[in-house]
Amino acid sequence: MKVALKLDKFVFKGVPTERPLMMAGPCSAETEEQVMVTARQLKSYGIRIFRAGLWKPRTRPDAFEGVGKEGLPWLKRVKEELGMYTATEVANVKHVYDALKAGIDIIWLGARTTANPFAVQEIADSLRGVDLPVLIKNPINPDVELWIGAFERLNRAGITKLAAIHRGFSTYSKTLYRNNPQWEIPIELKRLIPELPIITDPSHICGSRELLYEISQKAMDLDFDGLIIETHCNPEQALSDAQQQLTPENLNKLISRLVLRSASIQNNVLLSTLEDLRHEIDKYDDKLMEIFEHRMAVARKIGGYKKQNNITILQTSRWDEILRNKIEQAEKKGLSEEFIIKIFRAIHEESINHQTRVMNEE
Ligand code: PEP
Ligand code: MN
Repeated sequence: MKVALKLDKFVFKGVPTERPLMMAGPCSAETEEQVMVTARQLKSYGIRIFRAGLWKPRTRPDAFEGVGKEGLPWLKRVKEELGMYTATEVANVKHVYDALKAGIDIIWLGARTTANPFAVQEIADSLRGVDLPVLIKNPINPDVELWIGAFERLNRAGITKLAAIHRGFSTYSKTLYRNNPQWEIPIELKRLIPELPIITDPSHICGSRELLYEISQKAMDLDFDGLIIETHCNPEQALSDAQQQLTPENLNKLISRLVLRSASIQNNVLLSTLEDLRHEIDKYDDKLMEIFEHRMAVARKIGGYKKQNNITILQTSRWDEILRNKIEQAEKKGLSEEFIIKIFRAIHEESINHQTRVMNEE
């Protein structure tokens, strides 16, 4: 079921309308100088929307929690002197009032706030009658309903300039990314609310500079609308998220490397065909896993049998025969000998490990 929101397109005067809509600036505003230097450099590379966190939700209380209100005049300077649009995160009603009073152009709700419907409702109520673009980051947990709920709350309070920020999802197990992208969640959001712009936040997905390009390109290939990328004039010295921030110069390099493919219907069809093919691959991989599971169960049975009868695990002649056989079959199936040798060596090794475990059991 589609979700009905009353949305208005928002165009920023002087900001290019073609994809990607770019937002950049430091994770945190730290000093007036750092804000001004970063903003000036960004502007020289054509960036028009400046982000900077003032109130920082941090996991542990000893981390840098932002300069707060003190940074508002700095953002005002960015707006007045450089003609850029300014954006910051708000997490409560007080932040909203302070940001509005200082003339902030765009506010966003952070991932931890989106996960809390009471906080979202309070912020929504405080914005009644205000015409301001509001961006909503996905909640930290992969729950598209909770994300949609936040849009509904803001929309019912009269906010029609809304966009989503996809910043990845928290996982217990370690992955390559700081926050797992789980692209299926923003894709589902797009399916349910097609007219809602989606901005990808590669910085918080990746957690490290090296991965930013790949995620930014993927976001563009999925036809998302914009990118918000943390940028600092001196990333190594940043007081928060130092590993994931880029210099304005490197941000510019990243943007120029992006390949923007057309978002025509044909491409969407291509995309969905690709998705179908990938699902097919996933199915085969699941089957392989199941086969490995059963194969190893048989290996354990063999182990038990060998133990009972006092036979050694490795019988070289048997292994030679298996390998010869498989290489012969591989050629007929169009698989390379190298691949088959690698795969069967790995399977054989795992098989021996399973057998050994059984043999060593009391
Ligand atoms: C941020 O954008 O600086 C931030 C705190 O992000 P998130 O809410 O995604 O953690
Ligand atoms: Mn950050």
